[in-house]
Amino acid sequence: MTPRKAAAEPPADVIRQHSDLAQELEDLAYRYYVLARPTVSDAEYDTKMRALEQLEEQYPALRTPDSPTQKVMESLSNDFGEIRHLQRLMSLEDVFSDEEFDAWAVRATREVQVPHWLCELKIDGLAVDLVYENGRLVRGATRGDGVTGEDITLNIRTIEAVPSRLRGKPPTLLEVRGEVFLTHAAFEQINAGLVDSDRGPFANPRNAAAGSLRQKDPRITAQRPLTMTVHGIGATEGFDPPTQSAAYDAMQEMGLPMSSHYQVVDDLDGVRRYIVHWGEHRHDLEHDIDGIVVKVDDRALQRRLGATSRAPRWAVAWKYPPEEVTTKLNNIFVNVGRTGRVTPFAALEPVRVGGVTVSTATLHNESEVRRKQVLVGDTVVVRRAGDVIPEVVGPVVDLRTGDEKPFKMPTRCPECKTPLARGEDEADWRCPNTVGCPAQQRESIFHLAGRGALDIDGLGYETGIALLQAGRINDIGDVFALTAESFDGLRGFADKKIQQVLNGLEAARHRPLWRLLVGLSIRHVGPTAAQALAREFRSIDAIMAASTDELAAVEGVGPTIAQAVADWFADPRHRDIVERLRAGGVSMADAAPTGGPGPLDGLTFVVTGTLSGYSREGATEAIQAAGGKVTGSVSAKTSYVVAGDAPGKAKYDKAVKLDVPIIDEETLVEMLANGSGSAT
Ligand code: NAD
Repeated sequence: MTPRKAAAEPPADVIRQHSDLAQELEDLAYRYYVLARPTVSDAEYDTKMRALEQLEEQYPALRTPDSPTQKVMESLSNDFGEIRHLQRLMSLEDVFSDEEFDAWAVRATREVQVPHWLCELKIDGLAVDLVYENGRLVRGATRGDGVTGEDITLNIRTIEAVPSRLRGKPPTLLEVRGEVFLTHAAFEQINAGLVDSDRGPFANPRNAAAGSLRQKDPRITAQRPLTMTVHGIGATEGFDPPTQSAAYDAMQEMGLPMSSHYQVVDDLDGVRRYIVHWGEHRHDLEHDIDGIVVKVDDRALQRRLGATSRAPRWAVAWKYPPEEVTTKLNNIFVNVGRTGRVTPFAALEPVRVGGVTVSTATLHNESEVRRKQVLVGDTVVVRRAGDVIPEVVGPVVDLRTGDEKPFKMPTRCPECKTPLARGEDEADWRCPNTVGCPAQQRESIFHLAGRGALDIDGLGYETGIALLQAGRINDIGDVFALTAESFDGLRGFADKKIQQVLNGLEAARHRPLWRLLVGLSIRHVGPTAAQALAREFRSIDAIMAASTDELAAVEGVGPTIAQAVADWFADPRHRDIVERLRAGGVSMADAAPTGGPGPLDGLTFVVTGTLSGYSREGATEAIQAAGGKVTGSVSAKTSYVVAGDAPGKAKYDKAVKLDVPIIDEETLVEMLANGSGSAT
């Protein structure tokens, strides 16, 4: 059957398939837009939409004006009055790969030369339309079906970022479009409130924003810290900038909330660079984006290119790979970590998310399982953002069948059967058998050998387990006593592999003290605390001899960490581990600083955002090597904040507030060489 012949007359089963799929998409869109409680992930919705498009590609007779592929799918609820937009609001064409983007660009530029492209973030919120007459906000509406939206004027007025009057000399008429959204912090805050009052949390910031804005009672909206970014222009009178970017600048002057992240580039290579950049840095933002929007900047060209029934031809949305999907939670088990912490995790029906297949996801602790209200057997939303470990966001309550079962935390360690214990005011259950529990031995060896600690090349998970099971090592204290003979009779260890481990051990014997401290698996002691301790005391012996008060007095340590360190070293079994490591040749002290004062002596730095020439750890080590200190939060004691790409807003704002100088990477590099004179 050729597509051409089929095009004339789709077979009955295809008509049925098309109509079922179209109906399903309508239902899903209703749940998403009106109820703000979707039952499938965006990726699944997009896949179904693509399937519908493919059917219509094959049988164009199915492509009727009311098909979901041909219209803006947002539906209207009965809760609000209707508003007819002055100019139609559209959706956007999506592309998911370089090839699709290139094909779109060829189509867009077939008849016109595009001198400039405007690239901006595709904020994952909900679209609204605002009308300003003579600078006064007269109404606000949801996108709706693009022609008519819901009247949410009162709710919009509660959003702090939305000015009720424009500044300067505003035009007679200005219709603007934008995205209402929540930052991650605001989302967490709303969900915490919902859970405290025994209501179900929202699955993601987008749903929370939609649910918050479309409240019948605007007083509820007012309690939700919604914000907005303007990204489009509708009908205007007395306002006709030549380019979209010039319009943004003018709207910024008028006090409208504009994004600071947009960029105008000359060619498609520039567009691609922008896409790649934000693909890598999307998690540095304080809010979710689901892609990049690329627009023809010139407004006369935009008008020439026009629109289809659903989307403009002069803009496209590049969608990043999905980071949230739904799947079945088959069971909940627990893991025992290196410090004895018992962590529930979800065993999932394997699913692809964030570019990898995921079959387990952390649930953090017992109260987190309760807070998230997940039951065994639920369909759950799973998120994997960047390098972050996959997590269960929450259940899709609407898909429950009644067969789901609550999770029960075990009362004994699943590995050594010791009864679990939990301190007062603590969220975590722990296995108190810190020295004898096989799970803790295994995990702490893996951690000692890991990149963040002593980085022992060749000593991976499998090698560690093989050595433990054969009794060649029992805990981390034995690791540096390993010799070639330790591998005698073990299967799968050729000479080359053994030599790799021995070389790895030799290199690891000479690492800085803070790495050893991290490797000891002392509760609360991560790289920042370990570096602070190492800087202050310079040797394990000095740390062991220090009182809790002396430890707590170190900047970046504090009483909780100090107590954990003191408790750890007070245990004779731990001291024995230290002695065995010492006997194995591990360096227990940092050399005293040599060569007189460093260029950054006495200065304290906070690093935020992404640097191009350093990892965060690398920058910290470089600053410390030059005599400076690095801390995690900005205070009056901070000498400089080093701001890379997409710096954390809280740190940045605090630095401005406290008048702490903010320097860029280039200045840091100069200071590393020449001292603080370079910053002025
Ligand atoms: P879209 O969200 O893919 O793109 C269009 C929208 O992007 C615009 O209306 C605008 O509000 C927004 N946008 C954000 N930043 C922008 C910017 N800088 N410039 C211009 N526009 C910007 O399309 P859509 O038609 O709104 O919705 C379809 C999408 O919604 C689907 O692809 C899917 O991801 C999601 N959806 C999910 C479900 C579900 O059940 N999970 C159901 C329906 C829709």
